[in-house]
Amino acid sequence: MTILGTAGVIPDPQRAQSGYLLEKDGRLVLVDCGSGVFGRLAQVSLDWRQLDTFVLTHLHLDHMSDLLSIWAARWLMGAPAVTLYGPSGTREFITKLLELFPYIRDHVGVSVHELRAGQTLSLAGFAVSTLAMNHYVPTLAYKFDDTVVICGDSEPEPALVEFVRGCKVLVHECSFPDDARVPLHTSPTHLGEVLAHAEVEWLVLTHLYPQAAAQTEELIKAVQKGFPKRVTVATDLQTIEL
Ligand SMILES: [Zn+2]
Ligand SMILES: [Zn+2]
Repeated sequence: MTILGTAGVIPDPQRAQSGYLLEKDGRLVLVDCGSGVFGRLAQVSLDWRQLDTFVLTHLHLDHMSDLLSIWAARWLMGAPAVTLYGPSGTREFITKLLELFPYIRDHVGVSVHELRAGQTLSLAGFAVSTLAMNHYVPTLAYKFDDTVVICGDSEPEPALVEFVRGCKVLVHECSFPDDARVPLHTSPTHLGEVLAHAEVEWLVLTHLYPQAAAQTEELIKAVQKGFPKRVTVATDLQTIEL
């Protein structure tokens, strides 16, 4: 996994918006695709032109705004077919978006798959399952090969404890520090309390707003009050061997 973007809505010079690239046996899957993710893709050694499978946790702008830019570039490079997975509403959302860009709609072939919470499927060679999260719009967490879970934006979801059992890595948002807690997002003490009994080796915090990005050591300590395991804060272009 290459983490491409670790900011919330507000990027900084070190952090693009959300994006997580998975590679297995030469297949690439991009989970979320916020502003700046395409630029990050051009920085990694993997060939983004091979990337034809896209997954969205939810339909907020900071998780999808570079999507059409990548699709248009792939078309210009001679690779016009893409597959997109997302929560309910994704098909109508993409159809309406492409209506605004007929030159892309007419050249890019998009196969859209809407997923339900609790679904299991094979996706680009990965065994994937989904879990509903708590956010302003329908939002899914995705588990790949019982190894890594990537959550969308959410308050800490108690069902994650069972969902991540036996996994190596959980990538979870930690948008705000405790003193700036926002509903339907995550702050660190609450996350540690909810995950207290989660059997996952490594928790990676991401989706940091500036207040959180300015105090990463404090975030880790606050989470570990409840979840006393390996906790790190994600950085852009960090790679994790799974
Ligand atoms: Zn977000
Ligand atoms: Zn969101």
